Amino acid sequence: MTRHTGQPLLLKAPLSGHLMPIERVPDPVFAQKMVGDGVSIDPISQRLLSPCDGTVVQVHSAGHAVTIAAAGGVEVMIHIGLDTVQLKGRGFTPAVKAGDTVVAGALLIEFDADHIATHAKSLLTQVVVTTMDRVATLVPRSGSVTAGSDTILELTLVDAQVETQPAAGGTVTSDAIVVPNPTGLHARPAAVLANLAKKFKADIRLRRGDDQANAKSVVSIMGLEVGFGDKVNLVAQGPDAEDAIATLVPALQRGLGDEGTAPASAPASMMVSEGAAPAPRSRSADPNLLLGVAASPGLAVGNVFQMRHEEIVFPEDADDPYRERRRLDEAIEQAKLQLEALQARLKGEANPGKAAIFAAHQELLEDPGLTEIAVSAIAKGRSAPFAWRRAFRAHAESLATLKNELLAARANDVRDVGERVLRLLTGAEAEQPELPAQTILIAEDLTPSDIANLDRTRVVGFCTTAGGASSHVSILARSLDITAVAGIDPAALDVPNDAPVILDGRKGTLRLNAPADEVARIRRLQERHAAKRKADLETASQAAITGDGYRVEVVANIGGLSDAEQAVQLGGEGVGLLRSEFLFMGRATAPTEDEQAEAYREIAVALGPARPLIIRTLDVGGDKPLPYLPIPKEDNPFLGERGIRVGLDRPEILRTQIRAILRSSRAGKVLIMFPMIATLTEWRSARALLEEEREKLGLPAIPVGIMVEVPAAAIMAEQFAREADFFSIGTNDLTQYVLAMDRGHPKLAPQVDGLNPAVLRLIARVVEAAHQEKKWVGVCGGIAGDLQAVPLLIGLGVDELSVSVPTIPGIKAAVRALRVADCRRLAQDALRQDTAAAVRALCPSPPEDDASASSAVDSALRREQ
Ligand code: PEP
Ligand code: MG
Repeated sequence: MTRHTGQPLLLKAPLSGHLMPIERVPDPVFAQKMVGDGVSIDPISQRLLSPCDGTVVQVHSAGHAVTIAAAGGVEVMIHIGLDTVQLKGRGFTPAVKAGDTVVAGALLIEFDADHIATHAKSLLTQVVVTTMDRVATLVPRSGSVTAGSDTILELTLVDAQVETQPAAGGTVTSDAIVVPNPTGLHARPAAVLANLAKKFKADIRLRRGDDQANAKSVVSIMGLEVGFGDKVNLVAQGPDAEDAIATLVPALQRGLGDEGTAPASAPASMMVSEGAAPAPRSRSADPNLLLGVAASPGLAVGNVFQMRHEEIVFPEDADDPYRERRRLDEAIEQAKLQLEALQARLKGEANPGKAAIFAAHQELLEDPGLTEIAVSAIAKGRSAPFAWRRAFRAHAESLATLKNELLAARANDVRDVGERVLRLLTGAEAEQPELPAQTILIAEDLTPSDIANLDRTRVVGFCTTAGGASSHVSILARSLDITAVAGIDPAALDVPNDAPVILDGRKGTLRLNAPADEVARIRRLQERHAAKRKADLETASQAAITGDGYRVEVVANIGGLSDAEQAVQLGGEGVGLLRSEFLFMGRATAPTEDEQAEAYREIAVALGPARPLIIRTLDVGGDKPLPYLPIPKEDNPFLGERGIRVGLDRPEILRTQIRAILRSSRAGKVLIMFPMIATLTEWRSARALLEEEREKLGLPAIPVGIMVEVPAAAIMAEQFAREADFFSIGTNDLTQYVLAMDRGHPKLAPQVDGLNPAVLRLIARVVEAAHQEKKWVGVCGGIAGDLQAVPLLIGLGVDELSVSVPTIPGIKAAVRALRVADCRRLAQDALRQDTAAAVRALCPSPPEDDASASSAVDSALRREQ
């Protein structure tokens, strides 16, 4: 039986404005009272006042929500605006912190109503009682109210002594769940979880590491400050514990209905089974040969320099939390400026794509998941450096334990950006040791910043005991053309400074005590390599015509404007593949039609009127998830909603992109192609959509092609050739689908070879069908830039090779050294072979490739092409 306490609790208006029933708030979580019952205010003031006397339980780190514990165990949450967590604190200035005592009318948060109204869904502010189990009756008022004086809610409370008994029964603990919500478990997902949990009798806890929250309490869940990528468990104890876990775990995995949540899945190839021990590092029998993973190709001879990071020391505690918070904010701002300068420098050094790695670091600094842990430690009296270091290390560690290797590799980025801020906070200088010429660095781990700051005149290569081929450090090394090996045998750390060594970035080895004649041989090879590169660059602007007069167009695979500019400089005759998804990645929302039209227009202008720009429509899904385009978790994402299937399923996205492409077509020679076409129905639907938009815009037709990357499209090439204007063969995907081998699978990737005769036979078929209909065929998969494959592709009649930007001069030079008559004979011979290895044995190997190709680096490179 419920006993009522005598005195009603009157909650005062925290803002001036007009009251609205909570049921009418355009957000189901509030309207359906999942957070609790209360009232909403359409505010006309900007200073949020406390509605009652009490203690501040929590101020959300994004500054948009505050919870007050009032008399009788009642907790009141005030949530300013809707979807305001995404503003990441911009526009909010909290005046209180957790633990503060406040009286009714005290200032809680000041906010910038203009900013919120223009950047969030709504300014409507909800005042809700989250502990409804303490409330017997709740009567909301209506009409206009004045902050601090009018009552908005009248509550009568149940007797605080009435406690529910914890339910008896067994305990069930879930497996770890990786939180997929981009902004963590903020109010809305917390409310959904709490409401689901309340349906069960069991006591349910949400655990992250040693911390835990009552899963039936919104405030308690929010207090845990669970961020994106955090690993949590649910623990239920009671008669229906098993049912509770079975219901709540999938809901958490799916993001608790949070918009823009993609389940934290990874390509199958990137997954390792839970609890599986890491693959044992192989050791060579030769004590002078240390083994690792190939990370960036090349052969480097030089002398060892052991690089060690010094631990920065600082006091752990501080007296003035406000001062510490200010120091942290300033250091973060300064770090952002440094990162901007670093990006500008990398762009200037023609490494624009890689500058994006540091743009991602800037984003990390804006992640409330990272700052909120630091801020709460500061509030508890810790110094800013101590609080910050603890926060970023915890964040990095939680990433490092993720099953998704790509996400786990980002732990190093978090440490990198964390150390940058820490140095700014403490005034510690970045370590810049004096390096001798021809240095080969050895370290446990290096960060992207270390690599970007390497003195390239002195460092010829590096190897680390940590990391893998897909880390940002390895990607940077490849783009900067520095030989690198990751995951090297830790014995490398004991090699003395100045010891002469050979680092083989293709085999992934470090050779100690190298014989002098071996060193001399490598140096000669390097000199030949450099001379060849120089000669190729000098002739890069000339056409790629074989000795007997067969012309092949050599164009670029690009991800954006800077790649296009670089492609033109390196002799690219156009763009054979703009991976438009790059414009959609690394953002919280999709680019608008205008933004896209402008981006495509800029690229078309950079290429000039004569060079073609083939824009591939959005190719996401499979291994390329987008946070704001959630695709339900699929058992086989490569066989699921990918490429054109996503566009046809969400036609507005495809239509917007098509309109943008059509609008940009006025600026140059723009062509369009659709990815992952498997059936004529898909192709016809996509083309019909294009036609509709074109007619609406009243623009002339542009050539429309398809990517041939699904075996069905290759097999049906005759039919497609009658309707499509051109084909571009995506051999990366075609090979994986023909061989039924995941293109990124760590074990299978070496066998996913586009020179497999099964793939070559399909290419031959596609070319024949296209030429029959007088249509042209390009190849834009990785083999187009493979020097062993080029004569074969020419021999099969391919008209265009679309390759990664840096390889353009070398591919053009290789074409000029060939004769088409020989290529045709070679191709016919290749089609008769049994295996990819037999095909490769027929093709002349480029001289600088005498080191055998390594699987990890080759598959990583193929993915990047
Ligand atoms: C391909 O599949 O070969 C291709 C070029 O497309 P992507 O690598 O972007 O999937
Ligand atoms: Mg593809």
